[in-house]
Amino acid sequence: MAILEEPIKETLEIKNYTDGEWVESEGEVKDVVNPATGKVIAKVPISTKDEIDEAVEAAKEAFPDWRRTPPLARVRCLFRLKELLEENFEELSRVQTMEHGKTIDESRGETRRGIEMVEVATGIPSLMMGYNLEDIATGIDEYLIRQPLGVFGIIAPFNFPFMVPLWFAPFAIATGNCIVLKPSSEDPISQIKIAELAEEAGIPPGVWSIVNGGRTVVSGMLEHPDIEGICFVGSTPVGRDVIYKGCGDTGKRVIVMCGAKNFALVMPDANLERTIAACMTSFYGNTGQRCLSNTNLVVVGEGLNEQELDAFYEKVVDAFVDAASKIRIGYGLDETIQMGPIRDESKKERVLGYIEKGIEEGAKLKLDGRKVEILGDLPDTCFLGPTVFEDVTLDMAIAKEEIFGPVANMMKAGSLDEAIEMIHRIPFGNAASIFTGSGKWAREFQYRVECGNIGINIGIAAPMAFFPFSGMKDSFFGTLHGQGQEAIRFFTESKVVIQRWF
Ligand code: NAD
Repeated sequence: MAILEEPIKETLEIKNYTDGEWVESEGEVKDVVNPATGKVIAKVPISTKDEIDEAVEAAKEAFPDWRRTPPLARVRCLFRLKELLEENFEELSRVQTMEHGKTIDESRGETRRGIEMVEVATGIPSLMMGYNLEDIATGIDEYLIRQPLGVFGIIAPFNFPFMVPLWFAPFAIATGNCIVLKPSSEDPISQIKIAELAEEAGIPPGVWSIVNGGRTVVSGMLEHPDIEGICFVGSTPVGRDVIYKGCGDTGKRVIVMCGAKNFALVMPDANLERTIAACMTSFYGNTGQRCLSNTNLVVVGEGLNEQELDAFYEKVVDAFVDAASKIRIGYGLDETIQMGPIRDESKKERVLGYIEKGIEEGAKLKLDGRKVEILGDLPDTCFLGPTVFEDVTLDMAIAKEEIFGPVANMMKAGSLDEAIEMIHRIPFGNAASIFTGSGKWAREFQYRVECGNIGINIGIAAPMAFFPFSGMKDSFFGTLHGQGQEAIRFFTESKVVIQRWF
C-alpha cells in the first residue's frame, strides 16, 4: 500500500484574496480536517460582513478597466491560467483528495473537468459576439452587442471543491466581469490554489477575489447593491429558500443549482456487465456525494412476465452487490483505493441516520456499509462502505430524499411507463440514466423524463464545458445554466442598437 506524497505538509493559514492582496481575516477560524487521516490541514477564516463588503468594493473598482480590456487580452490571462493549472495538475489533484477525501483518480478527473471550463472560456472573442441585420428599414441597420454587467458572487458546495466554481468563474472573467468567490468552508484549499495561479497568470487585482466563510458572507453578497448576480451550487433548502428568494428580493440575476435524487433504469436488454461497472462509479464514486450520482436503481420488466422480472431483478441485484462488496476503501492518495471517506463526521452521521430509517421503514439491508474493511491504518471516523437496500418503495425516506452518501436502493417496475412514473413522483429533476440496447426505449426515456441531465448507457450524465449543466424541478432555480453559451448569456446583457445612416 503506497501513499502518494502529500502536497500539504504543514497546517495552512488561509487568507482572503481581495484587491490583489492576501489579507488576514478578523473572523473566527475553523479547522479543515483531512477526513481520511483525521489531521488538521488548514485553518479557514469565517469572514465578517465588512470583509465581504471590501471585496465587492474592490471588484467594483476593478470592473471599468477590466471590461475595457480587449477580449483577446483577457483571454491571454486565461491561457496562462490554463498552462499554470496544467503545470500544477498533480498537486492540485492531491490537494482535493486531502481536503475532500475523494480518490486520486476522482480528483484527477475533477481537475481535468475544471481546466476544460477555462479552455472553453478562452473562446470568448467569438462566443461573445453579437449579430446584426442591415436594412431593417430603408437605410437603417440594427445590431446586438453583449456587455458585461459588473460584479458576480459565486457560492460553492463542498463536494467538488476544485471544479464547481469553475463552471462560472472563467466565463464571468472572460466576458469582462469581476467575481467574488466564496468556497465551501469545509474544503476551501483548492480555490485558494486556483486564485494564487490566477494572480500569477496576470489577472488584475480585484477581478478574481476570494472571501472565505459561511452565512455572513452569503448574506453580505445577497444584500450588496453592487453584486449584479449570484451563482450558487448547494442543497435545495439553502438554494431555494435563501439564495433564489434573496436574489428575487434584491433583483439580482441568479443561477441556483441544487440537490438531487437520481434514478438508473436497467432494461431487460441492457449489457449487464457494462451496466454494473457504470453503476459502481455512478452510485459510489465520490462516495455518493455527487449531485449526478444515481441512488435508486429500477429493474424494469418491459416485455417480461412477473416470474421473468423477478429472475431478472435477482440477477441484477446479485451482480450489483457482488461488485459493490469488492470496492476497496481507504485513503484516496493510495492509487489502489476505489472509495474514500465521507467528507466529515456529521455528514456520515446523517447517512447513518438514513440507513437506520431504511431498516425501520421495512427495506431489506442487502449490503451493510457500516461493517466494512478500511485498508490502511486510518481512523474510521468518516468511512462508510457501499450499502445496498432491497425491497425499497417510493414512500420510504431513503427512496425520495437526498442522502448524499454511498447508499443504493433496489426497486422493480413492470414497464418503462411505470418506471418513468416513479421518477416523476420525486420532486427533484437533476439527472436520470437508462441502460438499454433499444433505441426506441432510449428515445422514449429522453423525451419524457423530467430531468435536466440524461444518461443513455452512462451512469454520470455530466455535461461537457461547452454544454449547459442543466437541472429541473427542485434541482434548479433560475433560467440560464452554468457552463458554455448559457453561462456567457448569464454573464452578459444584450444591448440592441438601431442606426440610421445619414
Ligand atoms: P450547502 O447548501 O450546505 O452549502 C452550499 C453553500 O452555501 C456553501 O458555500 C455554504 O457555506 C453555504 N450555506 C450553507 N448553508 C447556508 C445558509 N443557511 N445560508 C447561507 N449560506 C449557506 O451544500 P453542500 O452540503 O456544501 O453541498 C451539497 C449539496 O450541493 C447537495 O445537495 C448536492 O446535490 C448539491 N450540488 C448540486 C449540484 C448541481 O449541479 N445541481 C452540484 C454539486 C452539488
